[in-house]
Amino acid sequence: DKYRDQDDKAELVERPAVVTIMGHVDHGKTTLLDAIRHTKVTEGEAGGITQHIGAYQVENDGRKLTFLDTPGHAAFTSMRSRGAQVTDIAVLVVAADDGVMPQTVEAINHAKAAEVPIIVAVNKMDKEGANPDRVMQELTEYELIPEDWGGNTIFVNMAAFKHEGIDSLLEMLQLVSEMEELKANPKANAFGTVIEAELDKGRGPVATLLVQNGTLHVSDSVVVGSTFGRVRTMVNDEGKRVQSAEPSTPVEITGLNDVPQAGDQFLVFSDEKKSRQVGEARQQKHIQETRSETTKV
Ligand code: GDP
Repeated sequence: DKYRDQDDKAELVERPAVVTIMGHVDHGKTTLLDAIRHTKVTEGEAGGITQHIGAYQVENDGRKLTFLDTPGHAAFTSMRSRGAQVTDIAVLVVAADDGVMPQTVEAINHAKAAEVPIIVAVNKMDKEGANPDRVMQELTEYELIPEDWGGNTIFVNMAAFKHEGIDSLLEMLQLVSEMEELKANPKANAFGTVIEAELDKGRGPVATLLVQNGTLHVSDSVVVGSTFGRVRTMVNDEGKRVQSAEPSTPVEITGLNDVPQAGDQFLVFSDEKKSRQVGEARQQKHIQETRSETTKV
């Protein structure tokens, strides 16, 4: 990572992995995301209801994992096409009764292009026609070979629908996360990526940011894509007000002058004037680019 070199190595600490769920339509991505989210509800003291802000965190054995809450490949590819890499680990969901399908292959290609490790979740094991061996066999063609067969891909059998296999999957994600040695410097000025953004009638521009390095604080001056402002409010994935957000944490912020786009990168400036200058320059450039694009048509 480019920022690792700039930071004092002594300041680097472990950060949670950011996980994306991918796979063919109807193989159970949304069901799996719901089932994982549910593990938090049962463990949380007040039953912390997860708010949809585009990403959420769960704690497993006292360690966190961050999940992007948008199944499918659109988010992944649109972010990557904008130069943002937010995913550390991809979970490839394959229905045991259906096997490898076109979007399964597409997902594998995306993950490989991004050099992101893949864990295979063989889902719908409760179904009559479930055939996990066939799934393994089919995936060998794409160099996803289980450990038992001499490869190094982790396969987890599950029935997301019945909440079966979720614990094993979370354990395996922790294992891969440890192997990846994911680090960040919480003392640095924050930077990261926009997960989603919209214009809220009452609150104005609202953006969910994934902090990738540093710690984001309320009242920080930020440039977000071609927008800028000061963080006015910050809410976590449980809908609670927070004052700061550490690496790998998703938070929803208000205080921007306009609505940024998913995949835009954000950066905190120590100096508000500087942030305003950069923000305005970028906005000007953005307007010109949009104009020239429209006139080209
Ligand atoms: P997505 O398109 O990949 O997000 O798939 P969904 O999560 O929407 O699931 C598609 C269908 O498969 C839904 O009707 C689910 O209820 C069902 N489904 C998901 N997981 C399981 C499972 O483990 N077992 C069975 N029998 N059905 C499942």
